[in-house]
Amino acid sequence: MASEFAPASPSGRHRSFWLQQIAGDASDAPPLRGASRADVVIVGGGYVGLWTAIRIKEQDPSCDVIVLEQDIAGGGASGRNGGFVLSWWPKLVSLARLYGPREAVAIARNSEAAIDEIRSFTERHGIDADFRRGGWLWTATTDAQLDAWKSVLDVCDQMGIQVFDRWASDEVARRAGSSVHRAGVFEASAAIVQPARLVRGLRRVALGLGVRLFENTRVVRFSRSRPVQVKTAEGSVVADRLVLAMNAWAAGVPELSRGLAVISSDIIVTAPIADRLEEIGWNPNLSITDSQTMVDYYRVSREGRVMFGKGGWTIGYGGRIGPRFDRHPGRAALVTADFHRYYPKLRDVPITHDWSGPIDRTVDSLPLLGYLGGREHIVYGVGWSGNGVGPSVIGGRILASLALGLVDEWSQHPLVGRPTTGFPSEPIRFIGAHLVRGAVMRKEMAEAAGRAPSRLAVALAKLAPAGLEDKK
Ligand SMILES: Cc1cc2nc3c(=O)[nH]c(=O)nc-3n(C[C@H](O)[C@H](O)[C@H](O)COP(=O)(O)OP(=O)(O)OC[C@H]3O[C@@H](n4cnc5c(N)ncnc54)[C@H](O)[C@@H]3O)c2cc1C
Repeated sequence: MASEFAPASPSGRHRSFWLQQIAGDASDAPPLRGASRADVVIVGGGYVGLWTAIRIKEQDPSCDVIVLEQDIAGGGASGRNGGFVLSWWPKLVSLARLYGPREAVAIARNSEAAIDEIRSFTERHGIDADFRRGGWLWTATTDAQLDAWKSVLDVCDQMGIQVFDRWASDEVARRAGSSVHRAGVFEASAAIVQPARLVRGLRRVALGLGVRLFENTRVVRFSRSRPVQVKTAEGSVVADRLVLAMNAWAAGVPELSRGLAVISSDIIVTAPIADRLEEIGWNPNLSITDSQTMVDYYRVSREGRVMFGKGGWTIGYGGRIGPRFDRHPGRAALVTADFHRYYPKLRDVPITHDWSGPIDRTVDSLPLLGYLGGREHIVYGVGWSGNGVGPSVIGGRILASLALGLVDEWSQHPLVGRPTTGFPSEPIRFIGAHLVRGAVMRKEMAEAAGRAPSRLAVALAKLAPAGLEDKK
């Protein structure tokens, strides 16, 4: 593999290409030291925590909001993701199973509106997040993946809505820039962003609204009592309400642990090659995924770099998320192999950056929001399952309404109060997840090589969580 891997960040932590691009955009907020008080404390300075802080301040400027972040704001998944801004249209089958087709369509429309909201919010606040609405191409790259979208399109047909266009196979191959793409459907509402610019822009807006942010401040425990006592490494806060917006790290919270399985997602980025992409016909505004359970997702950056990612190589144990979730050269090599398989004409292009991040998968790949253990003063929004850039806008609205004790369409949203169970406890979950992941890997590798997978691998692979898309 041709590589010139990026150096670690000055703080010693390996950063995504996106965060490296904007390194030094603002100095770190100070860590929390000593005892403090607030109306609302939010744990987590990613999209969900920051959207929540912003929506609280917009509705009640007098509310004293503290955000506690163990890293820098955006140091988690929000500054490392693929920048796909997707709706929940591909989750229509799961949504319909939970709430019926009519409500499912309403929720999916909500998620489409969230994409518009990111566009208008970033424009209004001068956040240069490189928002480009080029739509999402959901493709099949093996025989086994053909028609993966059938059940989602069936619900659309049943409801008389047309959000997916079936493209002819030659058009799919042409616009994706490679004949490996055999078929696909196109959904026009999706966009792409430079994800770190978005989260750091939210940080700036939140600070401007008077949110008190403490970075490099890890929450080590919190009480369940009211007011809630939050203990950090060097300080403490007493607050009326607590919001948990900790993404995969929430798997370490006992009340949420059985609702989440932590897996890695790994990304590589190439040198800028805009001319080469034009030659092969890859539309640079498209977001593209295949239909594997260990999904491949890829797009082009503003500078004409290819960003290629893959989900699912590593499994976390509970909420323990160590350095192998920041970067893993071995996994980067495997992602590179997939990139080369999909784009053989780009084999000679140098890979300049690679990194990883944790994904908070739920059983149905829809988020979990609600009151922790039924306590109205502690609310959570986790389980974005690899589709959090767009949906975190909805998460922020819901969590703000819950934290402010409002009775409105957001606090009453159907996604609030879903069971936070679904996975077995550790160590069974860890062992089971390895078995299933191994089967998925064997099955998808066999399919990619044009071989029939074993029946055992097929059977075990069916136990994997639904994923980004509800398939077949
Ligand atoms: C590699 C990768 C690619 C992805 N690609 C896409 C994509 O293309 N499109 C998409 O929609 N989604 C994607 N996702 C998912 C998306 O990034 C997330 O769903 C989204 O960022 C969730 O936002 P969040 O605020 O919940 O999480 P985060 O941004 O992770 O924020 C949670 C924060 O909580 C902090 N925290 C945790 N525990 C503590 C503690 N004890 N004390 C203090 N702070 C704490 C963490 O440091 C972190 O910054 C991807 C994720 C990864 C990892």
